[in-house]
Amino acid sequence: MSSVRYWVNWAGNVSSQPTSYHEPTTEDEIVSLVKSIANVGERIKVVGSGHSCSRIAASNGVHLVSLVRYNKVLEIKSEACTVTVQAGITLKQINNFIEHHGLVLSNIGTISEQTIAGAISTGTHGTGINFGGISQQVTALTMVCANGEVISLSKEQEPEFFAAALVSLGCLGIISTVTISCESAFNLRWLGSPATLDYALEHLEELNQSEHFAFWWFPHTNYVYLMSSNRTAQPIDPPKNAIVIWFKDVILGNYLHEVALWLSVHVPGIVPTINQCFRYLFFSSQRERIALSYQIFNLTILLRQYVMEYAIPIENTATAIRKLRDLINEAKFKVHFPIEVRFSAKDDAWLSLSYGRETCFIGVIIYRPFGQEIPYENYFQQVDALMISLEGRPHWGKIHYQSTNHFRKLYPKWDEFLTIRNSLDPKSMFINDYLEKIFFDEA
Ligand SMILES: Cc1cc2nc3c(=O)[nH]c(=O)nc-3n(C[C@H](O)[C@H](O)[C@H](O)COP(=O)(O)OP(=O)(O)OC[C@H]3O[C@@H](n4cnc5c(N)ncnc54)[C@H](O)[C@@H]3O)c2cc1C
Repeated sequence: MSSVRYWVNWAGNVSSQPTSYHEPTTEDEIVSLVKSIANVGERIKVVGSGHSCSRIAASNGVHLVSLVRYNKVLEIKSEACTVTVQAGITLKQINNFIEHHGLVLSNIGTISEQTIAGAISTGTHGTGINFGGISQQVTALTMVCANGEVISLSKEQEPEFFAAALVSLGCLGIISTVTISCESAFNLRWLGSPATLDYALEHLEELNQSEHFAFWWFPHTNYVYLMSSNRTAQPIDPPKNAIVIWFKDVILGNYLHEVALWLSVHVPGIVPTINQCFRYLFFSSQRERIALSYQIFNLTILLRQYVMEYAIPIENTATAIRKLRDLINEAKFKVHFPIEVRFSAKDDAWLSLSYGRETCFIGVIIYRPFGQEIPYENYFQQVDALMISLEGRPHWGKIHYQSTNHFRKLYPKWDEFLTIRNSLDPKSMFINDYLEKIFFDEA
């Protein structure tokens, strides 16, 4: 145990003051920590990399646990294409390790800084109409429960507990190890092309023929940037090309954007012009890139941000975007780009955003240039109401304004999940304020 630390998330918008801070290095240490805290009847919170911008990982007055030093690869089976890891490992560390064994993760999101346990616990996903979220790549896990018992879960062993634990918001116990199904390494050919918003909305089915399709809409314009990735046997781009892309996307895309947004803190009226200029400079021509899969899935995101994201039934996509456009216009909000639109197959983790339905994810962002505050609440609250009216399930790791009644309606296995939660953690030692609102706020 080390002295009490002030904990703050990556975006800098959420903080907490725990009573103690722990970095266990073995499963036995995790078990004895949980038992000792259970004995005194206090609460515990495990954090990953702190990349959630909701308060899901924040807790005042609890015992805070980070698995930052419990992050080793335990076993890799190249022929079976599986890797078993300690839960504090980041996706980036997994990518780097398995690449040396000729393996990759099938589909991941925009960054790899998250821990594997944090990523699955919030339903983190990438894009691809035939792919589920990261939790769908998990074949087994072990979890340290409130009574100190370590349980092993998989589709074969305790399948109901497994389906609950895959996306469990940190409320069932501390995930200790995770086994992930990987694939032989593959390259992706990424194609970016400009189009109008109307074109994108009218051709969604056709565009989703790509293995991994997403688009960015630039609010205050009628333009989008379509991004399609497909597997290819072609070799990856030469390094020269990669350096040019890095300079454009990382240096100009982040720092130039941040300076422009910082100016808009003082003159909010220039936001539409910023969106138009950046679209014109970076997203008005066709681009192509071939790289190893995770290099295509991931972007370098340096700009701190408030984010919300809703998983809606795929058939509501066009309606949702059109209504969002009307909302922004009518309320005269000045909002940042991009509005990000992604897709996934339906899946079977009980609290997964895509549980039981093909899904479109709509992500909304307001940046915090150089840590400056830009008012976002009014905009976010209205987007929340709109997405909820379209059966939106808010991302567990992003900002939203919903509580128990909404979730019970939208997750068919809600009550079964609560039954399992009660049985594993009857004294609610893994619950924090955020989870109280999710599970016990019937107002
Ligand atoms: C720049 C950026 C890009 C992002 N891109 C995407 C994206 O493309 N797709 C997407 O879906 N999301 C995305 N996210 C959201 C992010 O993936 C999630 O918020 C994710 O949970 C962060 O993982 P973490 O390790 O930081 O977990 P934290 O935020 O630290 O914790 C999240 C939850 O996981 C729980 N948890 C952590 N470790 C354990 C454990 N060992 N056992 C049990 N529970 C545990 C915590 O208690 C907490 O409830 C992005 C976020 C950022 C900041």
